[in-house]
Amino acid sequence: MKQNEINKALLEVQHPAKGDRNVVELGMVENISIDGNRISVTLAFPKHRDPLAEYLIGSAKAAIIRNFPGTEVEIKTIIKDEAAPKKKPGLDLGLEELAGVRHIIGVASGKGGVGKSTVAVNLAVALARLGYKVGLADADVYGPSVPKMTGTEGLMPDAFMEEGTEKEVIVPIEKYGVKWMSIGYFAKPEQALIWRGPMACNALKQMILQVRWGELDFLLIDMPPGTGDIHISLVHDIPLEGAVIVSTPQDVALADVEKGVNMFRNESVGKPIFGMVENMAWFTPEELPDNRYYIFGKGGGERMAEKYGIPLLGQIPIVQSIREGGDSGEPAALSDRPDGTAFAELASRLAEAVSLK
Ligand code: ADP
Repeated sequence: MKQNEINKALLEVQHPAKGDRNVVELGMVENISIDGNRISVTLAFPKHRDPLAEYLIGSAKAAIIRNFPGTEVEIKTIIKDEAAPKKKPGLDLGLEELAGVRHIIGVASGKGGVGKSTVAVNLAVALARLGYKVGLADADVYGPSVPKMTGTEGLMPDAFMEEGTEKEVIVPIEKYGVKWMSIGYFAKPEQALIWRGPMACNALKQMILQVRWGELDFLLIDMPPGTGDIHISLVHDIPLEGAVIVSTPQDVALADVEKGVNMFRNESVGKPIFGMVENMAWFTPEELPDNRYYIFGKGGGERMAEKYGIPLLGQIPIVQSIREGGDSGEPAALSDRPDGTAFAELASRLAEAVSLK
């Protein structure tokens, strides 16, 4: 393993905001040192905060591990402008960009695959249709789905430097009356990422704290599935007002709701849960819109909500059009069909629950 081999691996690390040129070409690789099994690479960033800093650090680490499995990799960063203090870019973010946001609400689930992102995206659209100013930050760094679900894939958010500061601000993508932000706009799906621990946390904090949200009634945070360290860190660093928990009616999914509830009610977190959403509550075939088949069992959501003393804010049926809406980028909440109405009801109940809190 030689320095030039490491350099070659780093050619795979492209900067999505710089015409996909790689970090080597961009002159960002400041130093490579090898000590036995340990590889240390220093990346140089310009003076300002690069919104993609954490993404590039993660990608560089992934590229080296991909090419040299079993090595221990450390990525250090320096600020290119030597006059500036040497600090990691992008990490000491303040809460200024959230100053105009009235309610910050996490959309969480105990486990993956229950339709958390589908509910979050449709809830955002439904709140906007009710006349609220809405934003959604896709904090699901492991599987960002907002770009696809909103038909905004391939768009690159603008970023600009705040005058008189060293702060670079990202402009959210606007569509369907909602401001959207997702790590998916920056990361390429085919680029294997190893978002772990602090790195994942930092990247997603940037997707929330470095975004020009402006005046909003609701900022929804589509949280990563599960209840790990990343959640605890997120609820500590972002002034979440409370959460909505999404589940499906099967016992296995409901058992995980308990973990979600405990996470928010944990003493060190102590955030209210505005309610639960029972997704896939029943199946309704397109051609028989009045029929309900309780294929995952009936009343599970209600029982769980009662057990934990949280309101059941909404029940969303399984309908083909909800899945199709997610795949085509036109959320079902835009329609006036029964599935659209289910999201509209959920949105108005949430708005009520938040203001009654
Ligand atoms: P999660 O965010 O919990 O991992 P997703 O929102 O990505 O789950 O949903 C998983 C899959 O299930 C997606 O293909 C989505 O379109 C589909 N889906 C979610 N909710 C529904 C629903 N109510 N009816 C039909 N399909 C749904």
